[in-house]
Amino acid sequence: MERRPSWFLEGLVPELPEARCAEATEPLWDDTVHGESAERQRARHHAAQRICAQCPVQQRCYQVGAELQAPGVWGGVLFEDATAYGKREAAA
Ligand code: SF4
Repeated sequence: MERRPSWFLEGLVPELPEARCAEATEPLWDDTVHGESAERQRARHHAAQRICAQCPVQQRCYQVGAELQAPGVWGGVLFEDATAYGKREAAA
């Protein structure tokens, strides 16, 4: 499995120092992971969203994701891709 893209952590951790995902070792927030099933992808995204729900910088993270239009989970919201952009599953 690939980890979450390094540009996320390198670019945002200074801005979001309290990010709950900063020390993540699994790519929970990535849009897709090569070879995973749809079921595994949903479970992974739900796990990411549960962590995001406890994150003190959730709102700012959501804004950054919306600005970047990058797929994946941002601020507890799954953005699917740049062309079908929007909220699919908000954190519970
Ligand atoms: S809201 Fe989620 S993705 Fe964003 S910084 Fe916090 S834990 Fe990471």
